[in-house]
Amino acid sequence: MARNLDPKCKQCRRESNKLFLKGEKCFSPKCPMLKRNYFPGVHGPGKKRFHISSYGRQLREKQKAKRTYRLLEKQFKNYYTKASRQSGDTSENFLRLLETRLDNIVYYLGFALSRDAARQLVNHGHILVDNKKVTIPSYQVKVGQEISFNKNILSRPVIKERLEKLNKVQVAGWLALDAALAAGKIVSLPKKEELALAFDPTLIIEYYSR
Ligand code: SF4
Repeated sequence: MARNLDPKCKQCRRESNKLFLKGEKCFSPKCPMLKRNYFPGVHGPGKKRFHISSYGRQLREKQKAKRTYRLLEKQFKNYYTKASRQSGDTSENFLRLLETRLDNIVYYLGFALSRDAARQLVNHGHILVDNKKVTIPSYQVKVGQEISFNKNILSRPVIKERLEKLNKVQVAGWLALDAALAAGKIVSLPKKEELALAFDPTLIIEYYSR
């Protein structure tokens, strides 16, 4: 599957926001957003942040969200199309579709340090949903389904290290994590206000509904 291969830290700098794409580095003093919080490129340091139009703001919010969830335009827009066909608040439907992707839940449960790493765990068959292997990162996890590691990889040093740190993972109220069992689940679908978002979903909906 096609992926966004642009340098991750440059994507954060372009969006003037920490998108947490690189795992541990994002929480360390090495994060380039701490020292070079300006646009990437040769003109970056001197480039002024001009007033942008409402279309420009919508576009930037859309790009930020797309980069956060590590999706390409077509996949991302499909979520909007699907959300707009559901009843209720389109922006909330849209967020729920994105947030309940299997790779995102694996990341939130602390099984991986970034969404890319979580996607790799899923792709490689290391994640079980209700004790069955699921290798589709976009799989929509339903409330109550149990997400756990495939037992085959529990002895790998990198996974052991994650397991040892699972008890320090703080999950949002709509998720539950049993660190001792290395398993978690969605307890209720997230509400917009429960999500710590770096972007404004309303502007994304406005962008696509133009
Ligand atoms: Fe973004 Fe993480 Fe790179 Fe910092 S270290 S710029 S948060 S990807």
